[in-house]
Amino acid sequence: RDISGDRPLSRARSHHFFNRGRKIFPSGVTRVTVERQPVPVYIARGEGAYVLDVDGNRFLDLNNNFTTLIHGHGFLPVADAVADLLHRGTCFSNPTEHEIDLAELLAERIPAIEHVRFVNSGTEAVMFAIKAARAFTGRTGIVRVEGAYHGAYDWAEAGQASSPTRWGDGSRPNAIPAYRGTPPSVADDVAVIRFNDVEGIERRMADVGARTACVLIDPMPSRAGLIEPKADFLQALQAAAHKHGVLLVADEVLNLRQSYRGASARYGLEPDLIACGKIIGGGFPVGAVGGRANVMSVFANDKGKPLLPQGGTFSANPVSMVAGRVAMEAMTEEAFHGLERLGDNVRSGLQNAIDRTGAPFSVSGAASLFRIHPKKQAPSDYRSGYPTQAENDINTALSDYFLHRGILLPNGAAACLSTAMTAYDADAVVTTFSDFLSTPAA
Ligand code: PLP
Repeated sequence: RDISGDRPLSRARSHHFFNRGRKIFPSGVTRVTVERQPVPVYIARGEGAYVLDVDGNRFLDLNNNFTTLIHGHGFLPVADAVADLLHRGTCFSNPTEHEIDLAELLAERIPAIEHVRFVNSGTEAVMFAIKAARAFTGRTGIVRVEGAYHGAYDWAEAGQASSPTRWGDGSRPNAIPAYRGTPPSVADDVAVIRFNDVEGIERRMADVGARTACVLIDPMPSRAGLIEPKADFLQALQAAAHKHGVLLVADEVLNLRQSYRGASARYGLEPDLIACGKIIGGGFPVGAVGGRANVMSVFANDKGKPLLPQGGTFSANPVSMVAGRVAMEAMTEEAFHGLERLGDNVRSGLQNAIDRTGAPFSVSGAASLFRIHPKKQAPSDYRSGYPTQAENDINTALSDYFLHRGILLPNGAAACLSTAMTAYDADAVVTTFSDFLSTPAA
């Protein structure tokens, strides 16, 4: 396949930085990143919907820092508010009004939040939600969806990285510790269900319900396919949780961007606890765990020792709090609707291109999120969406093609839009995909 697109890409300075990075970072970079062969694209700056790399190439950015930047790059109201703050101190051991402002905004919008605590990342938010559920129920078990990503807490990871040789019987998937070195005992406390498998819920809960603290659910888990839940799946999960005295924990670190009131509200779910992150920090590190006041009281320390201490040197730092508040204030209900319309246009444009050509692809997602699968049949869960090696190669060819056409498309992962994008940008995404489908494979 010809991936040279409209113009050859100069990569000389990215090569230069990667050579420096290779001497100091394992694998050359400092986090699992959106690698691009032969070297990652090093970014010089961001501007609205676009990024400029160190070689002067300009790209439409469909990564938005792993779906964080709902307004794209350098959003002026956030930049101004943060600039104003920088001269007055960026972090204190004492509380500030800024944490209350953001907390009130979240509680006003998100039905699941009566009380909230801020942390520094989505990983921490999920970790503290699990810890809170355990402290509240006195149980240790977790039920979670196969393949879903919930950050790097050991118990949130088990069952995330399954593959066909390890995932076991579909009716009782294995809870595999995600990575070598994780104590195997972690898996003893994790039971895995398949996304959208309504019958599987009670089958699993009958086994483990009595020792389960929480069901951890992302309403549209991106790594498990970015697939919308079937109408009755989340409701069945909620009913099973209630029946077994298990708390329902919604991981909305990513999917809070679905609507003004978040994803659970959109899908009719009423979680006891919710983990948030990404967009609520306005481009700065953040996480939040919120929920019913009686459950959140495990963190309370006004009457002596809390059941569950929760600190964090940078938790609720004013920069993240102010940036988050300003970014979220700009996300009015109208802004969410506008973003959803843009998402609908992109998804239907991609689908039309597939229908027109009969190419073996499908599209999933909702609101401002979409994912392209190199499979004719749209997947319904992690297993049916699991790519073969040939499909992985197609994903790579697709994101390379986009790269050479000036668009950063995540490779085999969720892509997202921002309020900085226009109908012109949406057209560019659809046209590029359409051209890819008409380009003969090598
Ligand atoms: N949960 C979900 C659903 C996520 O998508 C992510 C990050 O991508 C996390 C948790 C972890 O968040 P963070 O990377 O901020 O630790």
